[in-house]
Amino acid sequence: MTPVIQQNVSLRAFNTLALPSTAEYFCSVSEHSQLLQALELARTSALVVTIIGGGSNIVLAGDIPGLVIQIDLRGVSHRYVTAAGNATGDLANAVDVTFAAGENWHQQVLFCLDQGWYGLENLSLIPGTMGAAPIQNIGAYGVELADRLISLQALDRQSGELVCFDRQSCEFGYRDSLFKHAGYDRYIIVDVTLRLSTKPEPNISYPALSAAVEAFCRREGLTSEAITPRLVSNLVCEIRRQKLPDPALLPNAGSFFKNPLLKQPQLNALLAQFEDMPNYPQPDGGAKIPAAWLIEQCGLKGAERGEVGVHDRQALVLINRGQASGAELLALAGEVRQSVEQRFAISLEIEPRIYGVN
Ligand code: FAD
Ligand code: NAP
Repeated sequence: MTPVIQQNVSLRAFNTLALPSTAEYFCSVSEHSQLLQALELARTSALVVTIIGGGSNIVLAGDIPGLVIQIDLRGVSHRYVTAAGNATGDLANAVDVTFAAGENWHQQVLFCLDQGWYGLENLSLIPGTMGAAPIQNIGAYGVELADRLISLQALDRQSGELVCFDRQSCEFGYRDSLFKHAGYDRYIIVDVTLRLSTKPEPNISYPALSAAVEAFCRREGLTSEAITPRLVSNLVCEIRRQKLPDPALLPNAGSFFKNPLLKQPQLNALLAQFEDMPNYPQPDGGAKIPAAWLIEQCGLKGAERGEVGVHDRQALVLINRGQASGAELLALAGEVRQSVEQRFAISLEIEPRIYGVN
């Protein structure tokens, strides 16, 4: 089926910040052939292409010229992994699951739990699509996508070919990947394969999660035996619902800034000045600093500026209080960055991708 291309489409419902923005042309593609046709049409009409998934990590600062393609490719398949070198074909407690890029992340986490496929439970309730997950190597509660990714397939917009990337070639980092650097705007991810475990091995090392698990077990009179991946998923959802605003009720894009990674000299200089500054050591001797703490120290937690604000329970989240424009939101982001820069000499990096700035 040929893709339906619409003109002058409002993108308010296609971004979780609910920012007003109009796509010059828009189409949603649910089949690979539709994606190819949409790209060909853009090429022959000299239209710039913008790819979106669930719109939960983008800031629409204005109207979007050219063609916006929403990736809605669907389908899930799996293959149980055989133990290496085992002639009898015994299974290796692992399953490789391939998800088409348009599948919803959280729904697939729940689907996998239902199948008895484990390893994604800490990443419950992250909005967005499977295909966007590798872009920033999504992570939460001590687990990140890179821990599970085996490979992904992407359409190379330069050559028109499908390319397979293994984990190493994705160049994953902290909320980072090749697709934010050398692969920027070049690849359209069409499916993602994750290796999951058929043996429950809950990871509750993240302090906020282990505290929630302990409190739950104490309250219910349970021992550590009762800690299942399903329980971990439920508790992650519970913590997130307590702390993070639901975009459907209070539009937001999750963390607006990345947690800065400081090198040792800067870290030591700051700790000499701010000895209570929380910091999480990194392999290079530096540390990761929670950006929420930096923002809070600047007195900006809960700040309101017209239609935008800094969330009062999680300072890393900027919110649209109703009728905000992208420009207002970026002005607040600028104020936050400037305050943190002045007080700590740390330059906060914006996490979502900004579109529609001339
Ligand atoms: P979009 O916002 O639609 O797109 C994001 C970027 O990816 C864009 O640049 C787009 O061009 C590109 N892209 C999308 N799909 C494809 C594709 N198929 N191929 C190539 N490029 C593509 N993130 C975390 O890491 N951890 C969290 O815990 C977390 N919590 C969040 C909580 C809330 C309430 C919200 C609103 C966001 C949160 N996020 C979190 C951020 C966001 O959910 C993730 O980054 C998610 O992966 C974005 O998916 P999306 O489909 O919405 O992508
Ligand atoms: P939190 O538990 O209040 O912790 C604040 C920050 O400190 C986190 O971002 C986390 O970094 C870091 N941290 C805490 N304990 C750590 C430890 N033991 N080792 C290393 N780093 C540690 O965070 P939160 O805001 O409630 O979020 C909970 C989790 O969900 C975090 O993993 C966060 O990244 C994720 N999350 C992400 C988004 C997003 O949009 N990107 C939105 C909401 C939540 P890490 O980020 O490295 O974990």
